[in-house]
Amino acid sequence: MSKEIDELKSIAGDYKIWALKSRKRFIDLRFQQDLEIREIYIRLTNNISKQLKKEGLSPFNKKRLEQMYLVLSQSEWILKKKLINNFKKYSEANIEAATGYSKAILINGIEKTGVKKIEKPIIEKMYFRTNEKAVEAIWNRTKEGLYLSDNIWSKAEKYRNTMTTIIQGAVAEGQDCVKTARMLDQYVLKGKKTLVDDYPNMIKRIGNRVPSDISYESLRLARTKMTAAYGEGTLISASVNPAAKGIKYILSNTHPKPDMCDAICGVDDYGLGSGVYPVENAPSYPFHPNCLCTVITVTEKPKDFVQRLKRWQANPMSEPSLESWYQNVYKKYIT
Ligand SMILES: [Zn+2]
Repeated sequence: MSKEIDELKSIAGDYKIWALKSRKRFIDLRFQQDLEIREIYIRLTNNISKQLKKEGLSPFNKKRLEQMYLVLSQSEWILKKKLINNFKKYSEANIEAATGYSKAILINGIEKTGVKKIEKPIIEKMYFRTNEKAVEAIWNRTKEGLYLSDNIWSKAEKYRNTMTTIIQGAVAEGQDCVKTARMLDQYVLKGKKTLVDDYPNMIKRIGNRVPSDISYESLRLARTKMTAAYGEGTLISASVNPAAKGIKYILSNTHPKPDMCDAICGVDDYGLGSGVYPVENAPSYPFHPNCLCTVITVTEKPKDFVQRLKRWQANPMSEPSLESWYQNVYKKYIT
């Protein structure tokens, strides 16, 4: 981790405290979301097993099985709703974490310069809208024809199918309801591997149709999409920040062997530095599922930015790029 952090600090320069804060928030959110998603699966499964336990030591009959199908279909629906809410909450938080960096830099420049023409509430509004746009981008983008919500729904369907497989396996084994309930609880908590000793016949029967870890696919989707959200926030907030010079990708130390990340983070195709891209040419990020490469906006140094703002304040035409930002970006948010 330390090499990445060193690189992050060196790119951020005087802004390093804000860069570290954004990165830390991202890591914390990732950890919290992981826990929350696991908790959703555990609670949902406990709820199914509670229904089963009511049936005691009797084996399944047709009526009980029908009831369980109903419970499973309700569970799928609840899981869809809970996962969507979870992804909404965390995508918004990740975007805010990312854009906070850009916002802090811009506000700092304006305050240090004391520019009258640029007002802090307008900047606040600009970033608020920018965050909204990034959220929309995350939810409206399709991959292979599927929206993020479709991907989330398919995880809930998979959950229902897996639970159905286990319960049907229990019926075929003549296993009683309490034992099946315990099996579900153990599975969601500790994974398929731990079932082999206690339920050897069942695992032989259905093992290849049951994933090792029922929440893994949702966790992987969450990690990938939240990295994408953070990346989207970084990109979109750089596009409205006149101090931004590009987007830098920093290779994660967690890569066991070279992959596409090495190529993207290691080249200097635009003469902006290693792994730095113009905002409009930034590669699609993350580069693969579970990718932990870091993304950060490259900005001009605070001193240079303040100097430029001062020159622009004295004579707008002396700083055409700032004037263009003022006319075409900033003014859009004055209403
Ligand atoms: Zn990577």
